[in-house]
Amino acid sequence: MFWKEKSAAEMSDDEWESLCDGCGRCCVWKFEDEDSAEILYTDIRCHLFNDNTCRCTDYPQRTTIVPDCMDIRTFSDQQYSWLPESCAYRLLHEGKPLFAWHHLISGSKDSVHAAGISLRKKTVCGENFTEEDIVRHIIDPDEADA
Ligand code: SF4
Ligand code: SF4
Repeated sequence: MFWKEKSAAEMSDDEWESLCDGCGRCCVWKFEDEDSAEILYTDIRCHLFNDNTCRCTDYPQRTTIVPDCMDIRTFSDQQYSWLPESCAYRLLHEGKPLFAWHHLISGSKDSVHAAGISLRKKTVCGENFTEEDIVRHIIDPDEADA
């Protein structure tokens, strides 16, 4: 249970990457509500996101191809709040345990899908959306329908 014993800086690249549960929640368009400062999710996916695998199709080049995509390992304390509350990186940063459905606990990478956490097969392609369209695509990721 390296994630309990090591800080982020002490983790190897493989350990760090293994923390990602593959939920895909960081790969959909989001925006901040001006009044409440709440982060609102849509079901509109990044063009590099594969809706069937729930994974990035060019992970090594992601931040070059998609300038808005950020390397979590470079995040400031404040930036972790941009991640979903279920995200392993945010949980560990806040000193919280991983959920039972996380593959490092469950032993299965399917458990994030079985638990209804992932956005696999729940997103739409992100092109030519008007502002009104985007508002219609707002979702609660905890209640996203398959
Ligand atoms: S939200 Fe966190 S755990 Fe989910 S895919 Fe993104 S980085 Fe991985
Ligand atoms: S570039 Fe890849 S990792 Fe980044 S948001 Fe898009 S699909 Fe997700």
